Amino acid sequence: MESSVDALALDAANPSLKQCRRWRVDQALTDESKLQDRRDTLTLESAFTMDTSGIKYGPGVTREVGYDMKKLGATRVMVVTDPNLSDSEPVTVVCDALRSERIDTVLFDRVRVEPTDVSFKEAIEFAIEGRFDGFVAVGGGSSIDTAKAANLYATYPADLSAYVNPPIGEGRSVPGKLKPLIAIPTTAGTGSETTGVAIFDLLEMHAKTGIAHRALRPVIGIVDPHNTRTLPPMVAACTGLDVLSHAIESYTALPYNQRPAPDHPGKRPAYQGSNPISDVWSKKAIEMTSKYLVRAVEDPSDDEARGKMLLAASFAGVGFGNAGVHLPHGMSYPISGMMRDYMPEGYPDDHPMIPHGMSVILNAPAVFRFTAQADPQRHLNAARLLGVDVSGVNEANAGDVLADAIIALMRKTGMPNGLSEVGFKEGDVEQLVEGTLPQHRVTKLAPRPADGTDLYQLFMDSMTLW
Ligand SMILES: [Zn+2]
Repeated sequence: MESSVDALALDAANPSLKQCRRWRVDQALTDESKLQDRRDTLTLESAFTMDTSGIKYGPGVTREVGYDMKKLGATRVMVVTDPNLSDSEPVTVVCDALRSERIDTVLFDRVRVEPTDVSFKEAIEFAIEGRFDGFVAVGGGSSIDTAKAANLYATYPADLSAYVNPPIGEGRSVPGKLKPLIAIPTTAGTGSETTGVAIFDLLEMHAKTGIAHRALRPVIGIVDPHNTRTLPPMVAACTGLDVLSHAIESYTALPYNQRPAPDHPGKRPAYQGSNPISDVWSKKAIEMTSKYLVRAVEDPSDDEARGKMLLAASFAGVGFGNAGVHLPHGMSYPISGMMRDYMPEGYPDDHPMIPHGMSVILNAPAVFRFTAQADPQRHLNAARLLGVDVSGVNEANAGDVLADAIIALMRKTGMPNGLSEVGFKEGDVEQLVEGTLPQHRVTKLAPRPADGTDLYQLFMDSMTLW
């Protein structure tokens, strides 16, 4: 059943322009009939799993990476980072710590910030040639994701598309265990140190896609507040708002027991829908972001706020690494894939980019206004965790209340006012919709199903936010 559903969605993923126009006028399927369809045709899931990386937290704890890698049995390690960090203190500390344990250490510093299939392949070739038995990633999500891919394809060589999520890739299962990977984040964002997901930009399709399998998950995430000391305010803002969206998306995702059951336990996805354990982590991460994000952005020397944001990223990572994310992330992939000339402050200036967290949060207000009716109480609760007094708020206003709370944080942290400010026009929206429809891994977890017509409206509503 799963495969025929995928086939249908695959057709929908490549609509002609004529079909695109039809989305806007054809509202034949109501939400209730779409949900009923989902229930009628599939057996629903009755189990969920909770996986996470080990986490080691503390100021200065990076220097223990030599001890940790040695304990994992590695003798020759590839250290993966981006060119901006190659001479940085965290990378120096890592290399010294590994060498002091007599581990053969080779630095790969050619990670692209917002990686592509081309940059992934470069790291994979380096990993294959180097015959490593361990990996350490130092950096933002880009470095950690690149290390996951290098580890996977060096251990089980295959064409890049083999393990990429369907329908874009073949979605093959990872055959077995990978070499140990230790992830050391230097931004408080992706939570990639706790997840089994690696995201990249497939250049020929102008869309982000990814590889998701629990085998990719780092063995340990070393979370060290010393490593985020030099975060420019815009980077702190984008990564912090990514944390917030991970937390709210996973908390409001389709519950795990409303997702189709896999026909084999090995096919249970890494992103399973909201569940009682993920909820705990996601809720705490919303609360921490609300308390510390603005402080961390405004004052990089605020050690407490920076440390708490780094922890919040890991909390959200544990939550969404199992529950998953939904429409704000699904819609963000074509946004970052299609951008033309936006150059954000504080990021590498060698190529235009829309930082991941920015491309996500720009959609979030419109999405939560749209999804609130699926579970108004959860949306209100998220607003409450963001510090809003929701007593006496009517359930019908849950989406607006949550959207307003997110917008308030966006304004305080210097985000652009909607997609129009990062270069998108109404004429781009059909292509943005086309780029979102194949992102099943996440869009299927939306608590309220969104078809092309809905997505069209959500992108339009995200053009200007205040
Ligand atoms: Zn994200």
